[in-house]
Amino acid sequence: MHYRAHDSVRLVPGVGPKTVEHLERMGIRSVFDLLHWFPRRYIDASNPLPLNLVQFGFPVAIRVTVDSLVKKRTKRGLSFVDAEVSDDSGVPLTLRFFNQPYVDKKLTIGSTWTCVGAIERFHGQNILPSPVLLDEPQVIPVYPQTKGVTSWMLQKFIRQVINDAEIEDIVPDSLREREELPPYRDMLRLIHQPVSMADEEQGRKAMAFIEAFSFFMNVAQSQQLQVRMAGSIIDVPVEWLKNVVESLPFELTAGQKRVVWDSLTDMKSGKLMTRLLNGDVGSGKTVVAALLAACVAQTGKKSIILAPTEILAQQHAKTVAELLKTAGCRVALWTAATKEDADSADIIVGTHAVIHDNFAVKNVGLVVVDEQHRFGVKQRAALRDKQEHPPHVLAMTATPIPRTLALVLFADLQVSFLKEKPKNRQVIHTDIIPINRRREMEGRIAQEVAAGRQVFVLCPLIEKEEVFTEGEPVVDPKEIKTVSKEAERLRKEHPEFGRVAELHGRMKAKEKEALMAEVKAGKVDVLVATSVIEVGVDLPNATVMVIENAERFGLAQLHQLRGRVGRGKEQSYCFLCPTIGGGPAIERLKALVEYESGFDIAERDLELRGPGDLTGIVQSGLPDFKMARLTDLEFLQRVKGVVQTYVEEHPEFPVQWQERGLSSAVAGLE
Ligand code: ADP
Ligand code: MG
Repeated sequence: MHYRAHDSVRLVPGVGPKTVEHLERMGIRSVFDLLHWFPRRYIDASNPLPLNLVQFGFPVAIRVTVDSLVKKRTKRGLSFVDAEVSDDSGVPLTLRFFNQPYVDKKLTIGSTWTCVGAIERFHGQNILPSPVLLDEPQVIPVYPQTKGVTSWMLQKFIRQVINDAEIEDIVPDSLREREELPPYRDMLRLIHQPVSMADEEQGRKAMAFIEAFSFFMNVAQSQQLQVRMAGSIIDVPVEWLKNVVESLPFELTAGQKRVVWDSLTDMKSGKLMTRLLNGDVGSGKTVVAALLAACVAQTGKKSIILAPTEILAQQHAKTVAELLKTAGCRVALWTAATKEDADSADIIVGTHAVIHDNFAVKNVGLVVVDEQHRFGVKQRAALRDKQEHPPHVLAMTATPIPRTLALVLFADLQVSFLKEKPKNRQVIHTDIIPINRRREMEGRIAQEVAAGRQVFVLCPLIEKEEVFTEGEPVVDPKEIKTVSKEAERLRKEHPEFGRVAELHGRMKAKEKEALMAEVKAGKVDVLVATSVIEVGVDLPNATVMVIENAERFGLAQLHQLRGRVGRGKEQSYCFLCPTIGGGPAIERLKALVEYESGFDIAERDLELRGPGDLTGIVQSGLPDFKMARLTDLEFLQRVKGVVQTYVEEHPEFPVQWQERGLSSAVAGLE
């Protein structure tokens, strides 16, 4: 069987319709996705653990000798075989095999086996259910798994496609040889099927290189665009701009003025602008976008402002129209649900729909992308392709990127930082709430509700299902709150919380819209929601943000969520409620109590990510590397140098790279 990278996983033998669904939920749709679903860790069966060192619940390799065997039946009639085994440590263990009636023929008394599995404590006994017996020692990958898709299944599926899938090398051969990197397929084999841990290490290094290489190649490509492509000239009379600025309901901060000025300088230079605006939540990025759009309108061109969600788009449309009332700009909303007349508008505020639907507005001078991470290189290119002249781009991100890192990653692009906040900003009182202080917190919520203010309660999930990883601290799934259950509980146990409403991603756009309108009108006191949606809502009357299972969120995300309150005059609160048994992850939360500035938190976040951490960093604005570490500045710097040298030698490469779609070949960069 031959697979193309974008073939569906349903072509893989053993992947039935149910499994397809489960895989899809994990984000695995294609053969390519499958091949880039990397192991979280490995079990080195050539190095088995003595039983006295084994931690319960974690998959491990052990080497044991069979002492006795019994066939049994459960109360429900299921047959199983129990093998009492031991090693030199003297700790007793029972291997339990279900539905393998012949296993006792294999496991003769006195024979020694290497087996893999997670040992559990059960009624005072150590039990290893359904162990995998190995004929020879090997290194076994452990994949992040989910309900319905086990690590073993993933291993099997990957084994089936890894040899026959079409895999293209994305680092040019000459460079690959110079860097002593294996071909892409070999690299994937080293990662998925290492024979030794040294293999695994080599594979991981190669993948890290490819990720960083792809990232810097994209940067090089943007840079070339900047240098080579003419941008439309946006030049406005200074007096006119002054008037618009004076008509705003507030005075701009020095930082805001600087960004507007720098962007205008770019845009009137005749070169193309691709500026990254990095500013903390609440630092006032929207008005910057609005002012630039007004300038563009003044020269007779249109601007597009892209927001990550429907609700944010609506909100931006309203805000921008209000801010630019004096400037006389016409604003149209263009989303999946609402399509206002874009042809007669100066500013089109929209969501992805702008890119995907047959949106064919011409004469676009500027594209502003709010929360850059949700829009990939490809989508931006698609927007660009619809224009005669490429529009200028301002990408805004609220995740403060530590300066040291930004310098390595983005120094060659135009980057602005908005560090200061508007003067009237308050410090949000932030607290970690252990179980014994919940009463106190609930008292505060009741008090705020009674005073007519609003409260957010964030839960990680809608339903109890998500990708989890073996080897993570085991948290009882019952401890993970869901929007619907929590809303129900609050209604029942806390009538003093007033009207409790729930908002989640599964709701239709229209329903969300209607609900948010009610929230804005003050008809809802407590809004229980998931974090992924509508984080940007501007609700000055909200004074409390409760985050349940807080340690399950990234610091940057928590900081963003916290920024949803404290927008009005009243003192605001952010309560971080850790999961019972949440483990050492709770420690991280202290950074939020300690630091107020997102830049400080980002710096701390970077420090806290240990070297062994394989999880992708899903942070706005930053590349979502799976293997390369953003903490390893030296490595990033080196790859950047390699790319620069290569591009100097092959000036046409970055464009070819983009055209061949190679940049999107690496997951996370798309
Ligand atoms: P973000 O950077 O998170 O997108 P917003 O643009 O939503 O921030 O701004 C947050 C709030 O601050 C808005 O209510 C906005 O009107 C207000 N704001 C922005 N700039 C200023 C300023 N210079 N002075 C006072 N308030 C401001
Ligand atoms: Mg914003």
